[in-house]
Amino acid sequence: MAMTPYFPAHGDDRYGVSHYDLRLVYRVAANRLDGTARLTVSAAEPLGTLDLDFGRLRVAGVTVDGVPARYTHTRDKLRVTPPAPLREAVVEVRYSGKPVPVASPWGGLGWEELSDGALVAGQPIGAPSWFPCNDRPGDKASYRISVTTASPYQVIANGVLVDRRRGAGTTTWVYEQAEPMASYLASVQIGRYQISEQGGARLACPPRLAARVRHDFARQDQMMALFGELFGPYPFAGYTVVVADDDLDIPVEAQGMSIFGRNHVDGVRGCERLVAHELAHQWFGNSLTVACWSDIWLQEGFAAYAEWLWSEASGGPLAGDHAHRWWHRLTLLPQNFILADPGEQALFDDRVYKRGALTLHALRRAMGDEAFFAALRAWTAEHRHGTVTTREFAGHVQRYTPRPVGPLLSAWLHDKPLPHLV
Ligand SMILES: [Zn+2]
Repeated sequence: MAMTPYFPAHGDDRYGVSHYDLRLVYRVAANRLDGTARLTVSAAEPLGTLDLDFGRLRVAGVTVDGVPARYTHTRDKLRVTPPAPLREAVVEVRYSGKPVPVASPWGGLGWEELSDGALVAGQPIGAPSWFPCNDRPGDKASYRISVTTASPYQVIANGVLVDRRRGAGTTTWVYEQAEPMASYLASVQIGRYQISEQGGARLACPPRLAARVRHDFARQDQMMALFGELFGPYPFAGYTVVVADDDLDIPVEAQGMSIFGRNHVDGVRGCERLVAHELAHQWFGNSLTVACWSDIWLQEGFAAYAEWLWSEASGGPLAGDHAHRWWHRLTLLPQNFILADPGEQALFDDRVYKRGALTLHALRRAMGDEAFFAALRAWTAEHRHGTVTTREFAGHVQRYTPRPVGPLLSAWLHDKPLPHLV
């Protein structure tokens, strides 16, 4: 368990946001964003000041329940002084400027200008690059995201498209995300995309890549069926895959959405394991979100294991074959890694993914398939659209097997040496 929270400068647990209403105007060529964010805030104890995470955009004004409020904006924090101590209020922030990604060990995060459009890749701390928020993963809220931009561009955001209005040269797209969502999973994708349906999912991609994309994602409906069977019902109203017309280091998950680079589409399904990985995050990460980043294996380990499950179900190597291969590779690395507390810098270390998947495989072997998958389905049902911790997971799975799994989990999660794979 982490002694100090990761990213202590982000988020504030003295208050929560239940709803974000974001109205954005984006000019692609100028990379200029004008926004109004309305946050429905409630605090356990009355707050004399409210600290929001907010990056480098220029704040033009703040109101609290419609009354102008004083504020200071320094070092990525927008501190609002409400006219009276705040318990429950709607806080409105007007802002504008060129979005600047949030600096991190993994490069710039958040709103990113593309060659012809924009994308948002928020994990883990990129959300303040484009809207003021309480940027901790455990504070989940519903969202309404409205984006106005030049009409040739398509806009994809989280949730359901509820309105699309054409103005003079611009179009306004309005999306509603009813299921609670962490700030890092909020996303907007803007590009000259062609949007089509395939097997119940939406595909958005540059028109010239459409044939490749349709081929590379053709088995996604089978993955959806497999994961529905193994993990429980798909947790959101829809699923959209966006293939940007730029290269991306890695695909990115957002709620109800995954974003791939054009380099992930080769027309021969060379990245199919990543298609499975990103889809699995809808259950593990997006519906069930870690309360603390130290528990990231509950997202990445599960998504990595889903890759092996897809491989096994689709005629590729069995999950056990993948497990043995990766176990041998991990034995060659320094044994200095704690899966359930990898440290901020190692949040996306390959061992979070592979040792996380191995932990699940070891648990599956110990419990047997029937109990293991029943436990997973109950896990996603009981914590649907909520937040989760490693301790809760350990307590949960124990209810599904008479065999004590505490020592096994403890060795994989909290000890440094890689346990033997039985
Ligand atoms: Zn992942």
